[in-house]
Amino acid sequence: VIEEGVPEHSVVTTCAYCGVGCSFEAQMKGDKLVRMVPYKGGDANHGHSCVKGRFAFGYATHKDRIREPMIRDSIDQPWRAVSWEDAIGFAARRLREIQAQYGRDSVGGITSSRCTNEETYLVQKLIRAALGNNNTDTCARVCHSPTGYGLKTTLGESAGTQTFDSVMKADTILVIGANPTDAHPVFASQMKRRLRQGATLIVADPRRIDLLRTPHGGQGLHLALKPGTNVALVNALGHVVVTEGLEDTDFIARRCDTEGYQRWRTFISDPRHAPEAVEAETGVPAARVREAARTYANANNGAIYYGLGVTEHSQGSTTVMAIANLAMATGNIGREGVGVNPLRGQNNVQGSCDMGSFPHELPGYQHVADPEIRQRFEAVWNATLDDEPGLRIPNMFDAAINGTFKALYVQGEDIAQSDPNTQHVESALSSLDCLIVQDIFLNETAKYAHVLLPGATFLEKNGTFTNAERRINRVRRVMPPIAGKEDWEVTQDLANALGYPMHYSHPSEIMDEIASLTPTFTGVSYQKLEQLGSIQWPCNDDYPLGTPTMHGVDFPIGKGHFAITEYVATEERVNPRYPLLLTTGRILSQYNVGAQTRRTANSAWHSEDVLEIHPVDAEDRGLRDGDWLGIRSRVGHTVLRCLVSDRMAPGVVYTTFHHPGSGANVITTDNSDWATNCPEYKVTAVQVEKVSQP
Ligand code: SF4
Repeated sequence: VIEEGVPEHSVVTTCAYCGVGCSFEAQMKGDKLVRMVPYKGGDANHGHSCVKGRFAFGYATHKDRIREPMIRDSIDQPWRAVSWEDAIGFAARRLREIQAQYGRDSVGGITSSRCTNEETYLVQKLIRAALGNNNTDTCARVCHSPTGYGLKTTLGESAGTQTFDSVMKADTILVIGANPTDAHPVFASQMKRRLRQGATLIVADPRRIDLLRTPHGGQGLHLALKPGTNVALVNALGHVVVTEGLEDTDFIARRCDTEGYQRWRTFISDPRHAPEAVEAETGVPAARVREAARTYANANNGAIYYGLGVTEHSQGSTTVMAIANLAMATGNIGREGVGVNPLRGQNNVQGSCDMGSFPHELPGYQHVADPEIRQRFEAVWNATLDDEPGLRIPNMFDAAINGTFKALYVQGEDIAQSDPNTQHVESALSSLDCLIVQDIFLNETAKYAHVLLPGATFLEKNGTFTNAERRINRVRRVMPPIAGKEDWEVTQDLANALGYPMHYSHPSEIMDEIASLTPTFTGVSYQKLEQLGSIQWPCNDDYPLGTPTMHGVDFPIGKGHFAITEYVATEERVNPRYPLLLTTGRILSQYNVGAQTRRTANSAWHSEDVLEIHPVDAEDRGLRDGDWLGIRSRVGHTVLRCLVSDRMAPGVVYTTFHHPGSGANVITTDNSDWATNCPEYKVTAVQVEKVSQP
């Protein structure tokens, strides 16, 4: 509670943490927040909330908030507080000087999945229209970019297929590489309700997640695969479906590219994909894989939910496509209770991707190389657009180290802590001539910055977030921005200072422009959001009230496309020097790098990251709970405390990534998804040994 007392009025807004997108009533006394109460009319949460959304908003008034703009000429100098005008003028001047010296492509920007759709749209517009290149990327690069690639390739749209409510019609729920209880708690409660009603649960995850403890209709199949073997496992499920005649031949004939299906059928029928053939590789008993495949394929409604345990791999995109293959082969697409559903980690991962943050796509996933699409944007934006895709985040880092990329504008993202191989990221950031950070706190990235622009929290701004079920929810301003400006206003000021005019007076005008340029958003407006409460895109002439379930009649690409998903083992293998595989995840009370939740009372529940290690591996090393452990990978070394746990198999260790300094990313590698460069956070070969207290 920020202010004691009886509330006088309330404002309905949207939680800024995870991709469930719960609606809350911010109960106010004057312009002070008294408490956050889950909103019964919320379409995603129906009056429920978790501990993060309910109590972890106190960071909004934390003493660490940046309250005034600051600049400095070099990172070894102290910060100078300046006016907004001076800070923005300084940033614009440096960007133009750098472009004049090193070329148009020497600058770029990174958008945030924590910011609103409107803010994200403006940042990518500034990069493309004001700075004249496509060097814009999003932090979704490091989480769900393989979802975008994989689902667009197979189903034709870069988004999950269902509403959350759809799970109440699922008979079998297959969870792959996700831990909803900790990462998506309100949706996990809904899943648990359905399981208690008798739905069957299958979990494919290296760790025994809490969901498996929920009583349900089946045996609670746990496919405890070795990290990095998702494709081998999902292919094995597909192999059983095809070789045991469990396909939905009618769905395939009506809805899918049948020639492509025959190619996939030949591929997946090969004995090398049989559960018995990959048992040693995946570590999952073949009989269990066969039982899982039969249970999923024979269900009236089989629904798949997956998370970062699928995407953050060198074959993240391949696994997403293998999952879509499985759903199409069994006819589990296009109605309630089924589908392929990515569980997005941050509040606006879906939105940041929809809004054109990727270097190859304008808003609505429209490719920059298409001249007709570019012309439409050029006419509205009054700018000439580059037809070449720009740099992805890892390419920006490499180019910075090579000396060809010199300035970066980062809105709401702590790349120094959240991106893999911290030493490499720090080397890139310290090579920049100008780093502009717009954030609510002096984060790890800000250590390398030359300009600090104070950000606004979700309580201080108007806009929209889009959750994991494509639901566009309103974010409503509850209190004035602590430094006087909402984030979209700052980006607009920067564009104007660069000589590119922007004159929006409210985020609703930005949404109107988005709707005019994005085919899946043409029916979206703030007025309609007020009427309906929320809207699931596509919302256009064909679907004026939005689309709860996608692909009911056809796919945006016409027929569903089966992709060939060959398993290629990751380069990150164990050996005598690094004999354990480290994988990572989240905990309920904390959120991502913890910048917000660590500044609230939630920290009392989780004050440090620890390393979970199996009793057998602990005994081999003489380890006990609470011991300090040195964890060494090929790229780095960190120290964490020990927690002996049998939730993983022997040979696998696990940690979270909510605290800086000791965090997992000091030791994660540069390996990344072949299609999207999403880092392989989930597999790192390590050695663990007892050390004295750091
Ligand atoms: Fe809902 Fe997620 Fe916020 Fe919890 S953190 S209240 S589940 S949106």
